[in-house]
Amino acid sequence: MSTSPTSVQRAVSAASDWESNAQKQRAGKQPIEEIFGIDVFGWKTMHERLPKSVYKALQRVVHEGDVLHPSIADVVASAMKDWAAERGATHYTHWFQPMTGLTAEKHDGLIVPNGDGQVVLRLSGEELSQGEPDASSFPSGGLRATFEARGYTAWDVSSPAFIVRGQNHATLCIPTVFVSWNGEALDHKTPLLRSIDALNTQAMRILKLFGTDKGVGHIQATMGTEQEYFLIDRNMYFARPDLSTCERTLFGAMPPKHQQLDDHYFGSIPPRVLACMAEVEDELYRLGVPVKTRHNEVAPGQYEIAPVFEEMNIACDHQMLVMEALKRVSARFGLRAILHEKPFAGVNGSGKHCNWAIATDTGVNLLDPQDETHTNLQFLTFLTGVIRAVHLNGDLMRASIASAANDHRLGANEAPPAIISIFLGDMLTDIIEQLEKGTPSRTLKGGALDVGATTLPQIKRDSGDRNRTSPMAFTGNRFEFRAVGSSASVAWPCTVINTIVADSLGHIADEIEAAAGKDPTPAKLETAVKKILKGMVKDHKAVVFNGDNYTPEWHAEAERRGLVNLRSSVEAYPALASRQSGSLFKKHKVLSKAELESRIEVMYEKYAMQCEIEAQQMVLIARQMILPGAYEHQRRLAETVGATQGAGVDAGGVFSELEDFVELVNRFREKLDELDRAAGTDQGEAHASAAYLRGTVLPLMDDLRAIGDELEIRVASELWPMPSYRELLMLR
Ligand code: ADP
Ligand code: MG
Repeated sequence: MSTSPTSVQRAVSAASDWESNAQKQRAGKQPIEEIFGIDVFGWKTMHERLPKSVYKALQRVVHEGDVLHPSIADVVASAMKDWAAERGATHYTHWFQPMTGLTAEKHDGLIVPNGDGQVVLRLSGEELSQGEPDASSFPSGGLRATFEARGYTAWDVSSPAFIVRGQNHATLCIPTVFVSWNGEALDHKTPLLRSIDALNTQAMRILKLFGTDKGVGHIQATMGTEQEYFLIDRNMYFARPDLSTCERTLFGAMPPKHQQLDDHYFGSIPPRVLACMAEVEDELYRLGVPVKTRHNEVAPGQYEIAPVFEEMNIACDHQMLVMEALKRVSARFGLRAILHEKPFAGVNGSGKHCNWAIATDTGVNLLDPQDETHTNLQFLTFLTGVIRAVHLNGDLMRASIASAANDHRLGANEAPPAIISIFLGDMLTDIIEQLEKGTPSRTLKGGALDVGATTLPQIKRDSGDRNRTSPMAFTGNRFEFRAVGSSASVAWPCTVINTIVADSLGHIADEIEAAAGKDPTPAKLETAVKKILKGMVKDHKAVVFNGDNYTPEWHAEAERRGLVNLRSSVEAYPALASRQSGSLFKKHKVLSKAELESRIEVMYEKYAMQCEIEAQQMVLIARQMILPGAYEHQRRLAETVGATQGAGVDAGGVFSELEDFVELVNRFREKLDELDRAAGTDQGEAHASAAYLRGTVLPLMDDLRAIGDELEIRVASELWPMPSYRELLMLR
C-alpha cells in the first residue's frame, strides 16, 4: 500500500546521484565554438566536402527551385555517408513529421555485405532522396485507405541532415517531407514549405511596388520559439499512472505553497536542473540549434529554453529537436521533462511563444519599424497586412493551436484567452491612429529612463511597454504568437500565419496595383498606399487591443467588437472546415481541399482519443488506487471508534469524522460509476465523440477530481497511493 514513501525515497537518492555523472561530463567539455554544429551536414560541410559543381547545383535546388538530379544526389549521398561514418554513425533514417505532431524515424543500417564475408558502408542517391515508410500506420485523416498504404518520404534539401547520438549509437537523420502516393501531404512540413513559398510570392510583390526588391532573391519567414516545460523527478513520474500515460495529473490537491510567493520566476536555477539544462544545450549545440536563453518559469518546477531565431523551416525542425533533447537528456539526471500544456491543475501551464517575422535573404527584417516609423510606409504596409490577416482569420489562428491539452491552459489567467487580438503598443497604435486620420507626422519616442542614481547607466526606454497577456503581441520587430501550446509542433500554427498574411499582402498588392499600376512613381505609390492603409486601419483596427487580455471586461468588449471567443477545441475546429478557409488554403496552394479535410479529421480523432484515454485512466486510478486507500482509512477510523468505545470513552468526535468520511467516499464511488458508464458509451465517429467527451465526460472528470482531491487531504498520507503535488513540484 505504500508506493508513495518508496517512490519518494528513490527520488531523493536519485536526486543526489546525478552530481557525479555531471562532474564526469564537465571534465572533458569542449568550447562551444568547437562543438557547435559539429553533427550537422550543413552548407559549410558541404562546401568542404562536395565538388564545387555539385555544391552549386544543390544551392540552385534550394534557392531557385531546380530539380534535384539523381547524379547529384549520388555524389551528396556518398559524401554524407563518409562524413556520418567518420562520426560513428551506423544507421540512417528519413526523419519526418507526420500528423501525430511528433517526429518519426525508421532506422536502416548503412552496411552492405560485400560478398566476401565483410561489409562496406553505403548510402545511394536514391536512398538519400526517397524512402517508403508504411504510411498506413500514421494518421492520414482519410487521405488514403489502408489497402493503398503507399507513402513516400522525400529529402528536404533546405534543412541540413544531422546525427543524433545516444550512449552507444549514432544515427544519421535526413529531414524529409512525407507524402502519399498521389503527392498529398501526410505531414506538417510539406504545407509549411508551401506556405513559406506563398509568403515569399506575395511579400515580393510589395517590395517590387516599393522598388526595394533590388538584390533580393527571396523573402523568408523567421521564427524564434520560447519553450516552457516542467522537470520533475523521474521516479515520481512513474509512480503516477496519470502522468506516465497522459502527461498530466488527473488528481492532485493543491499544496500549501506553490507559486503564491512569486519566488520561482527568474529565481536561481536548482543545481540538478541546471546540470540537465547544460547537457541539453550541449546536445543542441552539436546539432546546430542556437539555444541561448534558460530560466525558471512562473510555476515551481517549470523552466524555459529559447534558441535564437532562424529561418522558419529550420527553426521548426530545430524546435522538434529541442523537445526531443529535453525528453532524452532529462532521463540521465533522474528527471522527466513534461511538455504538456497543463500537467498540474491550479499552477501555471506551459506554452510555446512563436516569434514570427519576415525578412529578405539579404537580412532586412521587414517588420522593423526603424526610427522614424511614421515615414516608413513599407513597414506600415506589412504591419497593416498582419493586422488585417489576424482580424479576418483570428478563428483560424485559434483553431491552429487547438488541442485537448491546450484547452486546459488558454484563458486560465496565465495564458492568453481564446480570443485572438493584437497588441501593438503605444507608438504603433499612435501611428495607425494618425494613418486613419490622414498623413502620420510623428513617432512617439521612449526616451531615457532616469534611475535616480548617478552611478547607474542611463537605461534606454522602449517606446512601448510589454504586454504579456496578448495572444499576438508586437514586440519591437516581430510578432509573438503566445497562445501556442508547449507540446505542439509549431509547423502548423506557422503554416496558418504564413498563409493568412500572404493572402492579406496579396490583397494589398492587388489594391496598390489597381490604384497606381504595377510600376508606380514614388509620388503615385505614396498617395495610393496612404489611401489604402487608411481604409484598412478603419476596417480592421477592432482586432487591436493593448489592455489586459485576462479581464472579464475585455471578453465583453471583444464580443462588442465582433471578435470570436472559441473556448474549446471542439468549438474552434469548425473554423478550419469553413468554405473561406478551404479557398484560402487552396488559393495559395498550401493545402488542397482533401488535405485540409484530412487534417481536421486527424485533429478530431486526436482530441477524442486523448480525452478517452484520460477518462479511462482516471477510472482506473480511482478504482485501483484511491478507493482501496480510502477504504483502509475508513477501516482505521471505524476501528478507532470501536476501540475508543471499548475503553469506555465517548467516541462522538471520531464517530462523526467517520460518518463524514464515509459520506465522502460514497460520493466518490457514485461519481466514479457515473464517469465509468459515460466514458464507456461509444459515440461512433470522431466529431460526435469529441463533442460528447467535451460536453459530458470532461465535466464528470472535473467533478470526480474535486471529490478525489478532498479525499487526498483527509486520508492518512502513508495510505495515499501517489506522490503529492508537493513532492512532484518541490523535489528538485
Ligand atoms: P521574451 O521572453 O522577452 O519574449 P526571449 O529572448 O526569451 O524574449 O525570446 C525572444 C525570441 O524572439 C528569441 O527566440 C529571439 O531570437 C526571437 N526573435 C528576435 N528577433 C526575431 C525575428 N526578427 N524573427 C523571429 N524571431 C525573433
Ligand atoms: Mg517572449
